[in-house]
Amino acid sequence: MILIDGKKEAAEIREKLKKEVSQIKKEKNQVPGLTVILIGDLAPSQIYVRMKEKAAIEVGLKSEIIKYPDSIDEKSVLDKISELNKDNSVSGILVQLPLPKHIDKKKVIGTISPNKDVDGFHPHNVGNLSSGYESIVPCTPLGCYLLIKKYEKNLSGKKAVVIGRSNLNGKPMTQLLLKENCTVTITHSKTKDLKSECLKADIIVAAVGIPELVKGDWVKKDSIVIDVGINKTDKGIVGDVAFDEVSKVAKALTPVPGGVGPMTIACLLKNTINCFKKIYN
Ligand code: NAD
Repeated sequence: MILIDGKKEAAEIREKLKKEVSQIKKEKNQVPGLTVILIGDLAPSQIYVRMKEKAAIEVGLKSEIIKYPDSIDEKSVLDKISELNKDNSVSGILVQLPLPKHIDKKKVIGTISPNKDVDGFHPHNVGNLSSGYESIVPCTPLGCYLLIKKYEKNLSGKKAVVIGRSNLNGKPMTQLLLKENCTVTITHSKTKDLKSECLKADIIVAAVGIPELVKGDWVKKDSIVIDVGINKTDKGIVGDVAFDEVSKVAKALTPVPGGVGPMTIACLLKNTINCFKKIYN
């Protein structure tokens, strides 16, 4: 079995991006900038934002975190986003989710300029992706896609099963696989007999949030299994795939941690640099 090393792959991407940023700095005397808006004090959000900042600084990006208390009103957040949209030193804007209940996620995402939407959540980018046009692709599915392509260059005609239909993961993942001419089945909590769907798949992407849902006897020999899940359990962080069982059957599998997670951050940096290039040109 091939252990798909997302940590190594992400480090290689970050190294390339570092060189790219240094080249941009030399040529344009400017560096791409990532601004993250963090509302409230949810511990996981704070950790994610700190990780994003550290990675951004490491590749040479300008990084800014704007922190607001939970009590901030929606208008102030929308006004700040509009201001950042006009700021030429800001290439990418990310509003860390989840938001407090009184702030409308749809309005927030819709206010970010589609050209600075490094998360790829704006309806403009979602529409472009599903139409097969060039777009900013959400970071986690983009990371999964790059890992799959690394081990399987030609995906045409492959049967893929995506577990989970979230806007963040499952839906954009489906679009990326469709673009590669896979035959894609998107499954979710109401899917009947998920096991038999998985058993048909050459590629499985699990983005569910249920610890070790995908078992060894759900997986076809020679399949590629990408585990997006991050689940806190008594035995530590585990994915949506029962790693020990599935690793005995699959051709290639991502570990948790060290698989998709590092790729998500690398792809955020990649998206920020691409936004800079698009705006600059
Ligand atoms: P979500 O809760 O928004 O969506 C979960 C999806 O799973 C839903 O579409 C639901 O229909 C489906 N589902 C629920 N129970 C199911 C079942 N029994 N069978 C089949 N489908 C079922 O979750 P999300 O935001 O897409 O995140 C999914 C997982 O990925 C979580 O563990 C999350 O922590 C993790 N995640 C990881 C990264 C990363 O960088 N590795 C990034 C984002 C999310």
